[in-house]
Amino acid sequence: MNAENCIFCRIVTGEIPSRKVHEDDDLLAFHDINPLAPVHFLVIPKLHIPSMAGLEPRHEQLMGRLMGIVGSLAAREGSVDGFRVICNTGRIGRQDVHHLHVHVLGGQSPLPGMIARPE
Ligand code: AMP
Ligand code: ZN
Repeated sequence: MNAENCIFCRIVTGEIPSRKVHEDDDLLAFHDINPLAPVHFLVIPKLHIPSMAGLEPRHEQLMGRLMGIVGSLAAREGSVDGFRVICNTGRIGRQDVHHLHVHVLGGQSPLPGMIARPE
């Protein structure tokens, strides 16, 4: 999927509404439309980068900033005692939206185990 018909690019332009958690020149954070935990928001670069697998050295500063704001946003959203960051990538990672995003999940009680163990 390219930038023209990417739903997260359309959220960046405001064409699709979102419940914003944070916005600056380079980054946008907004609540996930289908939350899986009491706190569940996404942080994206405004730049259309399809996935973590497509990161290049020129994205280092941008991604450093992205990861650097997660903790303060999670605390502000009420996940004061930790959180989980997930970045589904590609087919194996079951990425559905092909604009790089990290999920930030948390809330008041501990999250379930990361991946269920097979019996
Ligand atoms: P994934 O690509 O599997 O890492 O997840 C994409 C996430 O985007 C899912 O958790 C969706 O619920 C979420 N999502 C899809 N469309 C929207 C939207 N318009 N606003 C907010 N979150 C969305
Ligand atoms: Zn995009």
